[in-house]
Amino acid sequence: MQRNVDALTDETFDLCIIGGGITGAGAALDAASRGWRVALIDKGDFASGTSSVSSKLVHGGLRYLEHGHFGLVREALIERGRLLRNAPHLVEPLPFLLPFYVGQRVAPWKWRLGLALYDFLAGTENIARSRPLSVSRLHAISPTLQQTDLLGGVQYFDARMDDARLCLAVIRTAAKHGAVVTNYVEAIGFDKVNETLTTLHAHDKLQAKALAIRARTFLNATGPWADALTRLAGDQAGPLLQPTKGAHLIAPDRGHRFAHLLLHPRDHRVFFVIPWNNRTLIGTTDTHIDANTGPDNLAVTADDTAYLLDAYNQFFSPGLETTDILGSFVGLRPLIRSKSGEPSDLTREFRLQRAASGLFTSLGGKYTTYRHMAETIIDGIGKSLGKRRRCKTAELRLAGTPIDDDWQTFLARTVLQFETEFAIAPDTSRHLIQRYGTDALAVVQRATQLTAGLQRVHPDEPDLLGERVWQAEEEMAIHADDFLLRRSRIGMVRKVDFSP
Ligand SMILES: Cc1cc2nc3c(=O)[nH]c(=O)nc-3n(C[C@H](O)[C@H](O)[C@H](O)COP(=O)(O)OP(=O)(O)OC[C@H]3O[C@@H](n4cnc5c(N)ncnc54)[C@H](O)[C@@H]3O)c2cc1C
Repeated sequence: MQRNVDALTDETFDLCIIGGGITGAGAALDAASRGWRVALIDKGDFASGTSSVSSKLVHGGLRYLEHGHFGLVREALIERGRLLRNAPHLVEPLPFLLPFYVGQRVAPWKWRLGLALYDFLAGTENIARSRPLSVSRLHAISPTLQQTDLLGGVQYFDARMDDARLCLAVIRTAAKHGAVVTNYVEAIGFDKVNETLTTLHAHDKLQAKALAIRARTFLNATGPWADALTRLAGDQAGPLLQPTKGAHLIAPDRGHRFAHLLLHPRDHRVFFVIPWNNRTLIGTTDTHIDANTGPDNLAVTADDTAYLLDAYNQFFSPGLETTDILGSFVGLRPLIRSKSGEPSDLTREFRLQRAASGLFTSLGGKYTTYRHMAETIIDGIGKSLGKRRRCKTAELRLAGTPIDDDWQTFLARTVLQFETEFAIAPDTSRHLIQRYGTDALAVVQRATQLTAGLQRVHPDEPDLLGERVWQAEEEMAIHADDFLLRRSRIGMVRKVDFSP
């Protein structure tokens, strides 16, 4: 996948998508795989907004059952099953523990009922049935978990993803289907004819060049920036979004083999402790932002850190201190504006809105259901374009997914191949195969052509120096953050001397 800015101005596209997070990526793949001519731009790197700072869960959303959102949960569980098949290198099953304590907001019987419903709603897409756990069993499998007032618990399954790379895989698959995709191109204005958008004016930040992108329709997939873009198109509908901020902390590996779903002792909100990249992820917060805070100037505050550490330390011993924290990240949930009170009650539902200018705007949603959202978006836009071809993505394998082998067979065979042909240790091989899927062999072959290409970036991390060349040549990584925060994650936990 190469950056070709000139291709953005060579033709009139059926659809021009603004925003290369998972919403724009999904729409680009859906439309391109139906045979539409599609352009996609992002003002930063792909997935540089919310789509690289999520909790990394592909999940039905157990807590949405409490609010009676059964349809949303069922849809998400079906999409979870599809993602496990369509991108097994980037999405994997993850066992969760849900411990019950005396006096908690949600009674154990309600959780048990909820999980029975969760299993039922997943139907044939269920990963494995949830099962009850005694106090002693919980202690055996999660020895650092707080024992006082523990009543037992439940084990259930959801899935974990590499969010930034999954977004990239969707964009690369869209490009393979003919979409013209480019990062570091910002939408800055529109031309209209008879009050309808015809041309997008954009700025290529790398070549400092003005671009005029012509299209029959435009999709605003800018997530938390959606209101800014509707204003740019001259649409006066008022704010459509009410974003909330979510922060995560990255702590050293605390030996958690399972993810934990817990209720915060202060406000009883759900939070997660997740084993991730040999580290422990703790999150998330869910707070309103003030008028001066926007998606471009977010920060993890001392209050956010204290809130998350309090939560961890209430449930695990030994606990964590601020000095233990290796890194943190923060993002905005692009939630639809509602009149209800607390942030966690704001709906995660998704809506496609069409303005008088013809601009389509995607609002809300969650990562897990991106494919279904994309299908709805492209069906909706297709009606206005008179295009009737149906969605093809339900079983479409994403870039890097083996076609002929099942995932485990492919993984075992390739680990062996890397060991015999390239003398690569099994842990590094697994890392490469999980990151690149079927492209891992090409990554390794490219790395062997470089001096020190098969050497590690850091002695304690599996990342190889040679990966960077592949990331630059095939994945459009340009700036240091693209390599360190999204193509790999090493920059989130280590200071790395980066010289491309
Ligand atoms: C803390 C947190 C945790 C979450 N955890 C989960 C989870 O575990 N599972 C789950 O399913 N969902 C989760 N979500 C929700 C999910 O991450 C988001 O719904 C999803 O990532 C939104 O994607 P998006 O593409 O709509 O927005 P974004 O990813 O923000 O993409 C918008 C893009 O538009 C670009 N853009 C903006 N303005 C312009 C412009 N003028 N020109 C060009 N480009 C522009 C931006 O650079 C950005 O890349 C979480 C959200 C948060 C905040």
